[in-house]
Amino acid sequence: MKRHAFSAAAFTGAILGAAMFASPAMAQDEEKFITIGTGGQTGVYYVVGQSVCRLVNRLDDANIKCNAPSTGGSVANVNGIKSGQLDMGVVQSDVQYQAYNGTGNFEGEPFEDLRAVFRAHGEPLTILARADSGIETLDDLEGKRVNIGNPGSGQRNTMEVVMEAKGWTEDSFSLASQLDAAEMASALADNNIDAMAYVVGHPNGSIQEATTTVDSRLIPLNGEAIQGIVDEYPYYSMSTIPGGLYKGNDEEVETFGVAATFVTTAETDEEIVYQTVKAIFDNFDRFKKLHPAFANLKPEEMVSSGLSAPLHDGAARYYREQGWIE
Ligand code: GLU
Repeated sequence: MKRHAFSAAAFTGAILGAAMFASPAMAQDEEKFITIGTGGQTGVYYVVGQSVCRLVNRLDDANIKCNAPSTGGSVANVNGIKSGQLDMGVVQSDVQYQAYNGTGNFEGEPFEDLRAVFRAHGEPLTILARADSGIETLDDLEGKRVNIGNPGSGQRNTMEVVMEAKGWTEDSFSLASQLDAAEMASALADNNIDAMAYVVGHPNGSIQEATTTVDSRLIPLNGEAIQGIVDEYPYYSMSTIPGGLYKGNDEEVETFGVAATFVTTAETDEEIVYQTVKAIFDNFDRFKKLHPAFANLKPEEMVSSGLSAPLHDGAARYYREQGWIE
């Protein structure tokens, strides 16, 4: 009995040992995990990431398990991809350009392995101010309590460009708060700030939350400083926020902005990126319905403009098969 028990244990141990040795290799062959960096939960990136994962996880043969956690935003996503914590991410087109070329916040550190996958929706710089703050133009932000964005977010990156163009520093505001995207709307409603800045697709939950809880207005950004930025940098263009999307904001508002883009690194497996873009574009009508900001997306445009890093080989293979690129 004792002997038998011993050999059973030894047998079980041998099986477990074999399984432990075999499982990493088997897991690699069978199941691949990818993590996509997004943004705050009340933004659109979170929906982009969740939508992509939903389609990727439905693939029958690819066996990719995709997850898309909330993150600090564009700059945090680039840094997460660089450090290997993220496989892919959603980043603003200005951030993609700066990261790949080593300019702006990435001065002197070009991320040469950064690879573009596709461009998604447009993202205007959106300044929302409390109606009782007296803010009507960009210049009126001076001396006010302004949320310039958490470090790591795209809005912080773009606000720094605006502040530089205006000759402003953080001291130009009575408060330059650095709240995360998901915290801004309630801070505005609670009168802890006068205005919030968000580079984001429309409509989005954060602006919806703020405008329904406090009288607030979208501020036009179309003066000389903004024109100067748009003229100077190829990745900025004038854009508009349609009227009627948010309570109390019926008129279209002129501002400037970027595009949201999907990026990865050259090190990400070609087949994984191929399967990811295939999951999206083979099911494009379904993808477009996942958020109203995706409504006007056209595949041919998404793969050919607004990208400054080279296309990832896996994405390029699929786009070539579709005849969208040479
Ligand atoms: N553009 C923002 C950023 O880069 C995120 C917007 C969103 O989450 O939709 O941080």
